[in-house]
Amino acid sequence: MEIIDGKKVSEDIYSVLKSEVDSIKAAGGKLPHLAAVLVGNNPASQTYVAAKVKACEQVGYGSTLIKLDADTTEAALLKTIHELNNNADIDGFIVQLPLPAHIDENKITQAIAPNKDVDGFHPTNLGRMVLNLPAYLPATPFGIVKLLEAYQIPTLGKHCVVIGRSHIVGSPMSILLARNSNPGNCTVTLCHSRSADLSHHTRQADIIILAIGKPYFLKKEMIKEGAVVIDVGISRVESTTTKSGFKLAGDADYEDIAEKCSYITPVPGGVGPMTIASLMYNTLLACRKEIYPAS
Ligand code: NAD
Repeated sequence: MEIIDGKKVSEDIYSVLKSEVDSIKAAGGKLPHLAAVLVGNNPASQTYVAAKVKACEQVGYGSTLIKLDADTTEAALLKTIHELNNNADIDGFIVQLPLPAHIDENKITQAIAPNKDVDGFHPTNLGRMVLNLPAYLPATPFGIVKLLEAYQIPTLGKHCVVIGRSHIVGSPMSILLARNSNPGNCTVTLCHSRSADLSHHTRQADIIILAIGKPYFLKKEMIKEGAVVIDVGISRVESTTTKSGFKLAGDADYEDIAEKCSYITPVPGGVGPMTIASLMYNTLLACRKEIYPAS
């Protein structure tokens, strides 16, 4: 069994990005600049946004954090997005999800200009991804593809079971791994909360990707010997071994299944760091105008 070290792979990506930034600087070019919009005081969102700003500092990008009150109107948020769409200094930006209930997330996602949508959530980028055209790939699935690549885990002809069909993780993940590419060329089964007899599917899987938000859900009797398990889930659970009384748990019961796996991602330190590294990667593509040359 090998533990997939997402922290290490993300650090390797940061080194490459940092040397790209150094070359841009040496040539007197414009440095990549990422903006993040945070609405309200959701503690998890605050942590994620702070980690993104820190990553920008690490690789030498410019960053702008726009904090809006929880009672910000949808119209005011749309105005902020419009300004960012038209600000030539900002190469890409994200609106941290989830948004307060009075704001329509779909409307917000669709208001972001596709050429600045470095989270890859806009229908244009998702559509381009499906068509195998240049696109900003959604950060978490893209990070998982990069992990599979870094560990040279074979995917061609493998049966991959993705559990969870969210627009930001499960659904795009299933599309990316079914594409005619490497990593890719998997036979993909997409499972969700209405799937019957989930274990029937997971027991046949060479690769299992879990994104459901249910701590310790995947047990050893649900997987076959030598399965690759990629755990996207992050839940806060009570703990008697930490000072805070809480710890982070994945969707897989790591202690239970690890020995049966050929590869497994830990939580934390697996997929999480890769999500941010992918966002940084997309921001460099945006600065270079590689996906949308005419923008
Ligand atoms: P979500 O919360 O939007 O949806 C959950 C999905 O899981 C749904 O499609 C649902 O059908 C499915 N599901 C729920 N219970 C199930 C069950 N018992 N059996 C089968 N399917 C079931 O999903 P999300 O936004 O993709 O988030 C999933 C998890 O991944 C959360 O814990 C989230 O915090 C985490 N996450 C982590 C990262 C990261 O960078 N590591 C990024 C995004 C999300």
